[in-house]
Amino acid sequence: MEIQRNCKCGKEHIFTSEVIVKEGALQELPRLLKQYCAKKVFLIADQNTYAAAGKSVSEIVEAENVKIVKCIFGEDALEPDEHSVGRAIMYYEASCDVVIGVGSGVINDISKIVSNVAGKPYIVVATAPSMDGYASATSSMTRDGLKISLPSKCADVILGDLDVLCQAPAKMMASGLGDMLAKYVSICEWRISNLITGEYYCEDIAQLVREALKRCVDNAEGLLKRDKEAVKAVFEGLVIGGVAMAYAGVSRPASGVEHYFSHVWDMRGVEFGTPVDFHGIQCAMATYHAVRLYEIVKKHTPDYEKASAYVTAFDQTAWEQTLREFLGKGAEAMIELEKREGKYRKGTHPARFKIIADNWERILQIMDEELPSSEEIAKLLKTIGIPIDLTTLGVDTECARTTFMATKDIRDKYVLSRLAWDLGILNELAQQIN
Ligand SMILES: [Zn+2]
Ligand SMILES: [Zn+2]
Repeated sequence: MEIQRNCKCGKEHIFTSEVIVKEGALQELPRLLKQYCAKKVFLIADQNTYAAAGKSVSEIVEAENVKIVKCIFGEDALEPDEHSVGRAIMYYEASCDVVIGVGSGVINDISKIVSNVAGKPYIVVATAPSMDGYASATSSMTRDGLKISLPSKCADVILGDLDVLCQAPAKMMASGLGDMLAKYVSICEWRISNLITGEYYCEDIAQLVREALKRCVDNAEGLLKRDKEAVKAVFEGLVIGGVAMAYAGVSRPASGVEHYFSHVWDMRGVEFGTPVDFHGIQCAMATYHAVRLYEIVKKHTPDYEKASAYVTAFDQTAWEQTLREFLGKGAEAMIELEKREGKYRKGTHPARFKIIADNWERILQIMDEELPSSEEIAKLLKTIGIPIDLTTLGVDTECARTTFMATKDIRDKYVLSRLAWDLGILNELAQQIN
């Protein structure tokens, strides 16, 4: 991937990983091993991903007379936590000079940490187009029982062999497209935030993501039929999502309020053992519901009296208590974030409301330009077998409503739930989720 210098947004966009997506991409491994002067490779996989591609990788590595040390996780669901990272480290040998992770989500997250700590080059051999973490420099982990985004490193080489990717389980492919659909909301919110808060925005990056998303949607019908073009579009789209985040230096181009729904459910899963599904499946379902809420907001007209009354009556202490009950330990970081950020400071609301009211037509235009209708999202989800009914995720209506209200507290980013709070319609909007 190229480096774009002197973008008109004022930033230098840097992403230096090599991305190879094609049929037979595994055959690039001998060249890569030579490039990194590999004498001993450390391979991380689980039983499934080892069968999918790890075995082929091992054979290719050994045929090059390069030694290989393996850490293969078992059949149990692999948790991205201290135990799995520790296990990988215990198999690691200091004389290894390249780390190869064979897998998708958790395997990639663990491998990124190992290669980062070991200071060795990292090649990820993707086994499923399932989530947008391939090109990201962080690992989505659970540490001390808390979901965190841990700085690790981006793979030096992202290897997407279409012969491997097309064999991925259907649900993982659906998850990948689901993670892409989230980008409708992400880009929309990035622009709205740019308008309301003055947050940095780059149109070139947004356009890169829009085009990748369009290729995915145009090919959606073929995805579960394992059509190579469709699988390629989703895998490349997910990589581009990561590249866009690296270019921007923030997660804005690829994640918005829909990702925070998913984040809340993941946090509750860690804390209370409630059910969780694949990242992309959760994001896709949340995208549908977020788009529906946007459709309701579009019918609203900013009303200062209403907004002001709502903000005046907002009880921050009571809300923090709700967060603690709803999310457990994870709530503390969110409450701390508010102390630094002050989004609920009542004195700053009038100025923000004025910007919103003065720019309302422009905000509605952004929503119209970026968001498809909720029916279109529902149709796409149906094509790939993802339901829109949140109870299938184990999320009842009450939980879904509190989830939406809590999305504004996850990160210091201006998303739909914050706009609704500023407009004084957050509670009534939450009531519309069903
Ligand atoms: Zn730019
Ligand atoms: Zn994602």
